Amino acid sequence: MAETHTAVVTGGSRGIGQAIVERLYADGARVATCGRGDRPAYLPDDVVWVRADVADPIDAGRFVAQARDLLGPASVLVNNAGVLVAKSVADTTDLDWDLQVGVNCRGVFNMSRAVLPDMSERGGVIVNIGSISGVVADLSSALYNASKAFVHSLTRSIAVDHGPQVRCNAVLPGWIMTEMFDEGFALAGDPDAAVRDALARHPAGRFGSPADIANVVAWLVSEEASWATGQCFTVDGGLTAASPLRPESF
Ligand code: NDP
Repeated sequence: MAETHTAVVTGGSRGIGQAIVERLYADGARVATCGRGDRPAYLPDDVVWVRADVADPIDAGRFVAQARDLLGPASVLVNNAGVLVAKSVADTTDLDWDLQVGVNCRGVFNMSRAVLPDMSERGGVIVNIGSISGVVADLSSALYNASKAFVHSLTRSIAVDHGPQVRCNAVLPGWIMTEMFDEGFALAGDPDAAVRDALARHPAGRFGSPADIANVVAWLVSEEASWATGQCFTVDGGLTAASPLRPESF
């Protein structure tokens, strides 16, 4: 990384967020991250941990302010924190709505709004973690799917409204092996068969790892991506490039 970034990463306690924190830190960034629980054991001592719920605008503002006090103004924001409420519209309760839309939509909005004053003045990069589920609908995940479509659209608006000082892009992961992956496949009638079937649909021959997403985030925050903004980058092992015909039928 040519420039030393100050990176604020949401949801760094595990999974994709952990890989992003580890990668940006290894690249030399000053990093602050958050989650709703205690400081995770893997974090190096000089990474700032703030217990914060991104769905709460006061928490989001407090997280950004603490990161600013300790590390300086954010030059990178990665909106990674997300939850999955796996239900159809008919089954979704008002509490489900508050959780799903609160974290995945309002959280991205809260955090982006909190960093934009500094970024508009000094420059910055925002990377939002969307999903292929915001483009093609996963079964029984109605609000999750819609929340990710919101993230993709907000990505474009931030890029359009706040460029050239701020670049904003989204990474759209396919199936990445984290706790959310396990939660998703646990819903299948036969989870092992569902995993085998999904794997056969990946031209890359494997599911993704959190590092696969962190690699793309590292590129997007780098100067090498200085002409990339307002875009959604799908990283899914080719899953959504493939026809839905079953490979074993041919
Ligand atoms: P995990 O469930 O493994 O991790 C989610 C992270 O977000 C945790 O650190 C969690 O910490 C944090 N988090 C959740 N809610 C909040 C909140 N309200 N405030 C602050 N932090 C919060 O998920 P993944 O790593 O798999 O997913 C990361 C992102 O990638 C999500 O946006 C997800 O939608 C997206 N994604 C994942 C895919 C996959 O296959 N895994 C595919 C496509 C997209 P805590 O619970 O302690 O607060």
